[in-house]
Amino acid sequence: MKINLEKLSIDKIQAGFKSGDFTSLELTREYLKRIKKDKTNSFISINPKAEEEAKKADQRLKNGKPTILTGIPLAVKDIILVKDLKATGGSKILENYTASYTATAVQRLKDAGMIILGKTNCDEFAMGSSNENSAYGPVLNSNDNTRVSGGSSGGSAVAVSNNLAPVSLGTDTGGSIRQPASFCGVTGLKPSYGRVSRYGSMAMTSSLDQIGPMANNVKDLSYILHYMAGFDKKDATSSKEKVSKLSFSKKKYTIGIPKEYFGKGIDKEVKDKIEESIKLLKDNGYIIKKVSLPYTDYALSAYYLLMPAEVSSNLARYDGILYGKCGKKNMSLEQWYSYVRSNGFGSEVKRRIILGTYILSAGYYDAYYKKAQKIRTLIKKDFSNVFRKVDILLTPATPTTAFKIGEKINNPMQMYLSDVFTVGANIAGITGLVLPIGKDNNNLPIGLQLLGDSFEENKLFSLASFLESKIKIWVTN
Ligand code: GLN
Repeated sequence: MKINLEKLSIDKIQAGFKSGDFTSLELTREYLKRIKKDKTNSFISINPKAEEEAKKADQRLKNGKPTILTGIPLAVKDIILVKDLKATGGSKILENYTASYTATAVQRLKDAGMIILGKTNCDEFAMGSSNENSAYGPVLNSNDNTRVSGGSSGGSAVAVSNNLAPVSLGTDTGGSIRQPASFCGVTGLKPSYGRVSRYGSMAMTSSLDQIGPMANNVKDLSYILHYMAGFDKKDATSSKEKVSKLSFSKKKYTIGIPKEYFGKGIDKEVKDKIEESIKLLKDNGYIIKKVSLPYTDYALSAYYLLMPAEVSSNLARYDGILYGKCGKKNMSLEQWYSYVRSNGFGSEVKRRIILGTYILSAGYYDAYYKKAQKIRTLIKKDFSNVFRKVDILLTPATPTTAFKIGEKINNPMQMYLSDVFTVGANIAGITGLVLPIGKDNNNLPIGLQLLGDSFEENKLFSLASFLESKIKIWVTN
């Protein structure tokens, strides 16, 4: 039986189960077949128990108490742990590592009845903007195979854009869900800091990381968030804030357009499309206000100080003793460390560890780390001031569309600039959503970003669904 996997939504799949068009097992098999034939390199491994899980889901759909997620296949970024499945984090140092427990976010989705298809490719330990830093090779953009998928959750973005999974999980530390979503033409959500437990997600920058969903449509993001959000006693930074009910409001929110996000460096085609969306909202009765976030210019610099500082500390655990790549018999301690780390880590990871160690060293700590922390406070204030005046901010997701593979890999500063519009949300701990709004002249997707105050995800879902209903690019393409 052939199932049309093109841009499937959770509602459509559930309707298919209900009408008897297909079972979860049939659907899962169809996705696995497609993954095995895939040429984009978006999966690192496949779950050998996927079919077994799907059979159980079919039972539950028939006799148990199913949820809206029961029987829905899911792809998971390889930086997030799923018990008994390999978890490489995109790194050679964890080439042979199998997870001994499951991340809380994934466990909650499994409890709701989701099927794990496999683990998706990503930049090594989530460090990158193009997926070219993965030890397992780059992920090709499914819109144009000569282009990058974006990073670091490139595999999860292409899993959805190439119909290898209806929904996926990524992580976002400075834009790693939103930037690849924008490059690949899918929707993606970075939840507010603390909304989703980080337990079982390999830490890159603990004060910025969040797990979030990627999907073909906004409603699916809301379903996934709803089930994985909420306090977890295994993550001290997870929030006790109540998980709000799933609801889409038709309210005409006040939308802020921050002038700092429309300056130099942004492609004309991207800017034009964003402006079209602003006009569309205005024509539909939304109030549009010009606003300013004066510290925006410092966000990227602050990020590239705070992030490596935490990276250098978080990655200290990869020493080949507890887990991961091992040294050789009879090596001295120094030889062991040098062997494991020089052979296990890729060059971007090494660069950031060295930078982080430097930033945190005596004599430089005050000049760099402390100063960046002060900037973080100012950026947070910028956002809280502006959210007193407007409900939602609307910005481009990235300055350009997907660039060519190899174009920026030797120029880290250029590469870092692709996160210029996304890092602010992580620094401030607020929520951000990206949705596709059109294509450029090369037929590459353009993404729009909505930013909301902490725990205001429902506002983003509401406005994004309105835009989605008007633009519908994924239906017409
Ligand atoms: N591209 C950014 C970086 O390389 C963001 C990564 C992320 O969000 N994980 O740091």
